[in-house]
Amino acid sequence: MLLAIVFATVVGSTPVQASAASEPTAAVDETAPVEVPAPTEKALQYHRSGNVLWVVDIVWSLAMLIVILATGFSATLRNWSQRIGRRWFFTLVTYFVLFNLITSIVDLPRAYYEEFVRQHAYGLSNQTLAKWWSDTLKSFGVSCIVGVLLLWVPYLLLRKSPRRWWLYTGLALVPFIIVGTLVAPIWIAPLFNTFGPMKDTALEARILALADRAGIENTRVFEVDKSVDTKTVNAYVAGLFNTKRIVLWDTIIRRMSQPELMFVMGHEMGHYVLGHMWYLVGLQTLLIMSSLYAAYRTAGAAIARWGARFGFTTLADVASLPLILILINAFSLIVQPLALGFTRYTEHEADRFGLEITQTNHSAGTAFVKLQEDALAVPRPSLLFKLWRESHPPLGERIDFTNEYHPWRDGQPLVYGDRFKR
Ligand SMILES: [Zn+2]
Repeated sequence: MLLAIVFATVVGSTPVQASAASEPTAAVDETAPVEVPAPTEKALQYHRSGNVLWVVDIVWSLAMLIVILATGFSATLRNWSQRIGRRWFFTLVTYFVLFNLITSIVDLPRAYYEEFVRQHAYGLSNQTLAKWWSDTLKSFGVSCIVGVLLLWVPYLLLRKSPRRWWLYTGLALVPFIIVGTLVAPIWIAPLFNTFGPMKDTALEARILALADRAGIENTRVFEVDKSVDTKTVNAYVAGLFNTKRIVLWDTIIRRMSQPELMFVMGHEMGHYVLGHMWYLVGLQTLLIMSSLYAAYRTAGAAIARWGARFGFTTLADVASLPLILILINAFSLIVQPLALGFTRYTEHEADRFGLEITQTNHSAGTAFVKLQEDALAVPRPSLLFKLWRESHPPLGERIDFTNEYHPWRDGQPLVYGDRFKR
């Protein structure tokens, strides 16, 4: 959902064991195809209950906003905020903090069930309750700060330009989106976990050599203690210039063999080298602008009809926040398939980059099999699920691609070959 993109917050110790990736690996026949495993009964159950929860969550968040709006509680909150904040800016800040506090408290049982109880029930989590609470409180703090930094932009523009505010807000948020995209992995993620140097220096050297071949210079490798939170695995490349960094969760280092890990690294480096971060900034700007435009076109009718009940007569009144969020969320849901189609395209190209630079098809396939098993993923979900929920191609399709894509074996040119240093 767009709100999740705009107010993106990162939520996140077992002693370190010898990493799988550092162990000598038996010779792998990289031309042998990999079979897509059928999902287990547990994975199917997780998938189905996850779909039910997805619908429940949408209805629940809409219902919460509608109640706040239709009971006139939003207008009451604005009155309190005016008394506490007095001036325009501080009224906005007070309103947002109170709104965020109240909705977070009402939402707490849902978050506790989905993030803690359910993850433990399926054996996906290592998190202690204390860590969940501290992460939840930190996320709340981060979302308050982000809200305070951003919310004045649309509300100021709503006052100055009632007809074009959606356009100017979209443009004004571009620098915030860029900083947010760059800063989130560097400033925010370390609030939740410990980022340290790679413990396995031989593996680090191999990763840096691959980065060098991919054209990423002067980078650093970090290992994160994500095993305190989860049993799932991940890695990414983030930052720009001197903040450039390759980050590996400790879980992935333990779980994957060295060639598997190198393919994953190749994929992540692909995102970086191909500039997917900038595509994402463009996509988010477009999504924000178009959803604000949708809110602008529809809010007037809602206010004309129910304004007396809502307790405000113009969108420029901060009491309109729940109304704007309802309209933005409804619009995001409609355009979700387009946005996800775009991210699936970038993920597919990153897979291609990873395969071309490592040329280890079999290891790429077995890495995906491990991802499927660890995340209880369903490799060939329904079309509806793919369109509305999958930011990555389904794992079955990714394994198919690793089995089929090997132009170097057939003397065909590589798509990204000119980007490799050698
Ligand atoms: Zn990716």
